Amino acid sequence: MGKKELKFNSKTIHGGQKPDAAYGAVMPPIYQTSTYAQSSPGGHKGFEYSRGANPTRTALENALASLENGGYGLAFGSGMAAIDAVMKLLVPGDEVICTSDLYGGSYRLFKGVYEKYGIKFRFSPMEDMKELESHVNSKTKLVWVETPTNPMMNIVDIKAVSKITKTHNVLLAVDNTFATPYLQRPLDLGADIVMHSATKYLAGHSDVIVGALVVKDHSLAEQLYFIQKSSGGICGPMDSYLTLRGIKTLHVRMQRHCENGQIIAKYLENHPKIDKVYWPGFENHPYHKVAKAQMKSFGGMISFVPKGGSYDNAIQFVERLKIFTLAESLGGVESLVGHPASMSHGSIPKDEREKNRIVDALIRLSVGIEDVEDLMDDLEQALN
Ligand SMILES: *Cc1c(COP(=O)(O)O)cnc(C)c1O
Repeated sequence: MGKKELKFNSKTIHGGQKPDAAYGAVMPPIYQTSTYAQSSPGGHKGFEYSRGANPTRTALENALASLENGGYGLAFGSGMAAIDAVMKLLVPGDEVICTSDLYGGSYRLFKGVYEKYGIKFRFSPMEDMKELESHVNSKTKLVWVETPTNPMMNIVDIKAVSKITKTHNVLLAVDNTFATPYLQRPLDLGADIVMHSATKYLAGHSDVIVGALVVKDHSLAEQLYFIQKSSGGICGPMDSYLTLRGIKTLHVRMQRHCENGQIIAKYLENHPKIDKVYWPGFENHPYHKVAKAQMKSFGGMISFVPKGGSYDNAIQFVERLKIFTLAESLGGVESLVGHPASMSHGSIPKDEREKNRIVDALIRLSVGIEDVEDLMDDLEQALN
């Protein structure tokens, strides 16, 4: 294949991969082992103990690095363990600026765990770069961005934020869970760290909990590998295998998620019983232009508010759906529905929630890759 870089769809299948050295297995075997025989002390084949490295995990880590155009990938036991590793780059007194409508679990980790270690978290909608820059001071070490955000589908301009972080010598990390590298590659837009809950679209089949980090810089990678090995929040060989298997169809799944998402978003937008639909593909979405510039398409995540909706009839609606399964999580092949006020964002106080327009009647869809007519029929019967 020479030196020419593969295009994205080929990378999902071949990126960072080669047949297994032992028997030429095309898929990396699940190396279900904790340790590796040594011929003499230190005489090994690159693997000593599976907390440090395991060949199945290494195969996944190489695939992740390739997909995000980074040099180094790291796989963790969950998305939260990946974020936790990034936080361990910091020391007491450091400050972090985060997107205001952050994933609930990230908010809990930051405020509930890391604040007591003396790290300060500031929040910014990151819509206005002057407002964002006003939070930067000599203690700022990291900017944590989510885009599109959950569940309001706000868009943050990664390139614009990276101009600020580069000026002030601050690290920029992007949670790329919702977009996936199929839609957007933050390292190419100036980010230093990309984070994934690979549990969602990357693995794509709702059967594992896995997290990932990808970076370009060698010394940053060294620091993160040191943290990964020291703290031990690694992804096991079986889950590494399943995630790698999922990644091989990422591009075909994402294409269908986007197609179905677009049809459902437009169906809801034109529905007489729907008040508001949040989806970055609409031309009147406040950050449509940014979304169009930094993303390939707009994804399958949609939030909406029915007309005259309330907490109670939102609950009734989600209970009535038959194909959309009521569940936490997103990004799998099957369609899911969630009620943020009582589920993913239930731990955030109501007035805090409503500041970010997460009202009681808001409903979030993760549109799967089923026949879209069946999905629309399901929504229609539940709305009626
Ligand atoms: C699910 C999720 C996480 C956390 O990942 P886990 O794999 O559940 O630990 C972080 N960020 C976003 C945007 C998520 O959706």
